[in-house]
Amino acid sequence: MESKQYKSFTLHNYGDIPQLSALTREEREAVGIAGRILPFKTNNYVAEELIDWSNVPNDPIFTLTFPREEMLSKSHYAQVKKLVEANDEAGLKQKVREIRMKLNPNPAGQEHNVPTVDGVKLHGMQHKYRETLLFFPSQGQTCHAYCTFCFRWPQFSGMNELKFAMKEADHLHRYLLKHPKVSDVLFTGGDPLTANAGTMSAYIEPLLTKEFSHIRNIRMGSKTLAYWPYRFLTDRDADDMLRLFEKVKKAGKHLAFQAHFNHPVELTTGAVKRAIERILNTGAQIRTQSPLLRHINDDPKLWAGMWTEQVRQGLIPYYMFVARDTGSKAFFEVPLEKAWNIFRRAYRSVSGICRTVRGPSMSAAPGKIQILGVTEVNGEKVFVLRFLQCRNSTLTDIPFFARYDRKATWFDDLIPAFGEKEFFFQKDNLLGKHGTDGDFIWE
Ligand SMILES: *Cc1c(COP(=O)(O)O)cnc(C)c1O
Ligand code: SF4
Repeated sequence: MESKQYKSFTLHNYGDIPQLSALTREEREAVGIAGRILPFKTNNYVAEELIDWSNVPNDPIFTLTFPREEMLSKSHYAQVKKLVEANDEAGLKQKVREIRMKLNPNPAGQEHNVPTVDGVKLHGMQHKYRETLLFFPSQGQTCHAYCTFCFRWPQFSGMNELKFAMKEADHLHRYLLKHPKVSDVLFTGGDPLTANAGTMSAYIEPLLTKEFSHIRNIRMGSKTLAYWPYRFLTDRDADDMLRLFEKVKKAGKHLAFQAHFNHPVELTTGAVKRAIERILNTGAQIRTQSPLLRHINDDPKLWAGMWTEQVRQGLIPYYMFVARDTGSKAFFEVPLEKAWNIFRRAYRSVSGICRTVRGPSMSAAPGKIQILGVTEVNGEKVFVLRFLQCRNSTLTDIPFFARYDRKATWFDDLIPAFGEKEFFFQKDNLLGKHGTDGDFIWE
């Protein structure tokens, strides 16, 4: 099998990327300026096999991993540029911090979902929906390349106080033993598959014992198939990682690989196709998800083609997300009505076998909210919404209404329809009793 040695590029060495000569001097400079604020890291697979350099800077994968001037506001960009040019490192550090804090670095109150065990806060976990515990292995708090839209960017940008990471598997296992209603553990990051196979085994193998019979699904949220498929082919511990997947299956559990694919080109290389095959051969299943992003994938034909190709390769389309309200959102955002139109046009043009996908979905503080559509009730134009997931699971799947707003791009922009003061879930403290400060009542 053809192999590739991983080589990453960041602010410090991106000038070494040979293909970069396709950019103008201004565009190259912009990477170094916007890249002070936004996450920036790419690698030789992305540069050599995914980006079409004859199409930069508008190439979708270039836009996905290289910061561009337009991703920051004019004034933020100018302020950073001035300090970079003046070589004022101290002033720059201060300014970068200040600007990042203005970009909503921790959207949707994620800090509220931190659980506790024996009175100790477990910062490497989030427990928001009863059946699924998110776990952030500290060794997986990076990715093989960074997405310029990423809401996890504080984790990669040295803002350590926001880093949800923990060292020990011990806390994870103790927490799960106390919470028999949790059936799924979702390893996430960053990208948990940047951790080595040995580390992942230490977390996962204990979960395969009788004590943890309530854990049925081991899930991994990962962008590695798109950014570094050689991780499953020729990296030193590629085979060990696949053997771990096999062990999960042999223990009678489901290994659900949740792959992030943002664009169909990510499914086209020989390396990704072989990596998918090897993962499926372990008995794992691969579900796919992506946010909807202007400049990258805001086109129904593209989504229809992407889902169709995914199914052809044995993957299961799972979620289309609305981009979160953080970081470079202004550059990537799509109004909610347009998001729904893109979704339904794509959805109606594929066969039922691709329609396992759900969306467009907003991961907001109360839960995952799907936009079911725009319609009119009693002469008022409204958005019809429902919870796909809710902090209070009894509210899942109940339709509710928001006043139509042409410009709205996120749930926080919406207000209840029909002149009501609150959404139904805001009444009677329906969410509050589940605690917002880690005092979860999940059992
Ligand atoms: C999306 C998400 C999950 C998983 O939800 P599923 O619908 O089961 O895929 C779990 N926890 C959090 C915090 C999430 O955002
Ligand atoms: S791979 Fe996922 S976690 Fe990593 S930068 Fe991209 S969106 Fe963020």
